[in-house]
Amino acid sequence: MISADEALRIILDAVPPSRKEKVSLRNAAGRTAAEDIIAAGDIPPFRNSSMDGYAVRSSELKSASPERPVRLTVAGESSAGNPFEGHFRKGSVLRIMTGGKLPGGADAVVPVEIASKSGKHSVLFTGPALPGEFVRLPGEDIPRGQRVIAAGDLLTPYHLGVLAATGHAVARVAVRPRVCLLATGDELVRPDRTPVGGRIRNSSSYALEGLVREAGGKPRFLGIVRDRKKAIRKRVREGLESDVLLITGGVSVGAHDHVREVLGLCGVDILFWRVNIRPGSPLLFGVSGGTLVFGLPGNPVSTGVTFLQFVRPALRKILGRTILFPSQYRALIDVPIAPKEGKRCYLRGIVRQEGDLLRVKTTGSQSSGVMSSMLKANCLIVLPEGTRDLPAGASVNIEFLRDPF
Ligand code: AMP
Ligand code: MG
Repeated sequence: MISADEALRIILDAVPPSRKEKVSLRNAAGRTAAEDIIAAGDIPPFRNSSMDGYAVRSSELKSASPERPVRLTVAGESSAGNPFEGHFRKGSVLRIMTGGKLPGGADAVVPVEIASKSGKHSVLFTGPALPGEFVRLPGEDIPRGQRVIAAGDLLTPYHLGVLAATGHAVARVAVRPRVCLLATGDELVRPDRTPVGGRIRNSSSYALEGLVREAGGKPRFLGIVRDRKKAIRKRVREGLESDVLLITGGVSVGAHDHVREVLGLCGVDILFWRVNIRPGSPLLFGVSGGTLVFGLPGNPVSTGVTFLQFVRPALRKILGRTILFPSQYRALIDVPIAPKEGKRCYLRGIVRQEGDLLRVKTTGSQSSGVMSSMLKANCLIVLPEGTRDLPAGASVNIEFLRDPF
């Protein structure tokens, strides 16, 4: 039995380097950047107005006041995409729109709301303008040479905006790992069948498929196999063609738990079996060529928790992600918790903000068969090995179940 940290170290050490591909910007959301993006030019590229108003020389409005307004001539217009091409003479102003280019000589914009039009071609200014007011400078958003995206960043919609703004119609991203899922168990039937005679519906595979997709992997379900060595072996062979093989069930010490033996027969190098955690202690991990193989306990909660704690970091590392683990926060427990002595425990929790504090309670029964607890929960409470009984009000570490990175 090894510790959770040791298990993670072994898993992450076994991850092969990520592969890259190009995708169009439209399909890049949720992918992982495979290269740094350096801005080749300033954004915005030129001085422009942040308001609709008048481009002025602030020096010409120094004396302006409501009692002694300054009258200036409107020489023309500059709107977004249609700059003023003429000569911006002294003593004149330009009508300018948001995004319009400032002409040479102008150093401020007076919003239209505080200038009054007087006659057809002149405007009265009743106050001074500060140099630089309502002017956006070149590079104010992104200066040339700045790294705007780092390899390993998860591409969010705003990353796509930045890629477009910096002139990228395609993005270089990490190839999504192919993840095969295999469900083992004599008791399992498809969800569209009515289970009879001690059978149950296969549920873990469906949760797992969604988790794989959320984590950036490309899931492929290989189906359900009975607890027969030959049948498992056939499907494992198929699964070993992928980047990652996730097998659920059959990794514990029951009389019909054959997965470990079969993996050995298929040439999988088993790097560990059983981890000092709860739930999910029968977790198994091995490698075969470049394929990572996980044996996840079949109880739906165990499957989910071991995926989040051990498989997701591996998928993120395959993708070259900078952030492998969710952030942890401190929260106060409402009711006492008695951890399982000596093990690292992951409890399903419901966390909420109360004033300046996060408060968390468990979802109720922590049995690893209670899959609905994963629906109720919005976080995992993570109790380190050796945590003693905790009184109400004690603080614990939590990880949000839906971690955006
Ligand atoms: P095992 O890991 O094979 O010892 O299974 C542990 C428990 O999880 C048993 O109660 C199984 O019936 C259940 N189980 C195994 N695989 C699945 C699955 N794919 N969906 C739902 N329950 C499962
Ligand atoms: Mg089983």
